[in-house]
Amino acid sequence: MHKIGILGHPIKHSLSPKIHNYWLKEMGINGKYNAIETPINNLKKTIENLNNKGYIGLNLTIPLKEEALKYINKKNKTVDIIGAANVLIFSKKGYIEGKNTDVYGFKKSILDLVKNKKKETAAVIGSGGAARAIVYVLIKMNFKKIILFNRTKKNAEIIKNDFQKKFAKKIKTKINCENLKKMKNSIEQLNLLINTTPMGMKNFPNLNIDIKKLKKDAAVFDLIYNPLETKLIKESKKRGIKNRNGLDMLIYQAQKSFYYWLNKTPKITNELKKILEREIK
Ligand code: NAP
Repeated sequence: MHKIGILGHPIKHSLSPKIHNYWLKEMGINGKYNAIETPINNLKKTIENLNNKGYIGLNLTIPLKEEALKYINKKNKTVDIIGAANVLIFSKKGYIEGKNTDVYGFKKSILDLVKNKKKETAAVIGSGGAARAIVYVLIKMNFKKIILFNRTKKNAEIIKNDFQKKFAKKIKTKINCENLKKMKNSIEQLNLLINTTPMGMKNFPNLNIDIKKLKKDAAVFDLIYNPLETKLIKESKKRGIKNRNGLDMLIYQAQKSFYYWLNKTPKITNELKKILEREIK
């Protein structure tokens, strides 16, 4: 039996077991995907235990994605640039490979949103682990300018400096950093607005921004999927602005994780999306 799991703290509300166990069943694969409560100080021991128990791999949530870099034997360039691995692959006992599928998840789910749109200025709200994956994709998409808006401007500057260093001179994208409070001064110039903070999530306050001056032909992406419609998404809809929540990103990152563990690409069906939407509602 293939054993896979997700580590986090808290982890009991994660949708990942629903997604992976659905695919295992649909594809007739003998396996089980478990949610395993793991405080950060237990990460090393838990990884070792599960590796010894014959697990084939794991997903990790924040802040374990960053912490896990200390314990992996092999990482690719994406993991190195992002500084986080949300997938661990146990190819043989004691040998751990780290991958980042948030990048793939975001890339796949934003394609349709920005199709035929100008790629001049994108605003990324937040400067944590998720923002790094997003900035990476926007650079690869050749956006001319990214403005990182964050509550703590210093954290945005850390991302900017890291990316400039790690991409060496190859970056064509200009990266600016601003305090989130200054967002109103730039909103009219944006082609794309992305929320990567937890603001708007269930049990969190809403993001305090005003999008009345956002261009009608801009696009809005909110990484949050619970609720399915944050205040930001509702307001975008009301103004007729193309928008997307974070559910597809979650499913695509899961699809790629599944591929890394089992060498098979599971299908993203409407039935699966309905199951997840019902779970969220
Ligand atoms: P993180 O590393 O903890 O970063 C959170 C960021 O949000 C930080 O920049 C932080 O600002 C900012 N923030 C937190 N509270 C805030 C507040 N009250 N006001 C303004 N800004 C605030 O988290 P992460 O890994 O980047 O994840 C962020 C969100 O993305 C989470 O909600 C997560 O669920 C979601 N996510 C979704 C997917 C998906 O597949 N859809 C994938 C990954 C993540 P400071 O720098 O000032 O602390």
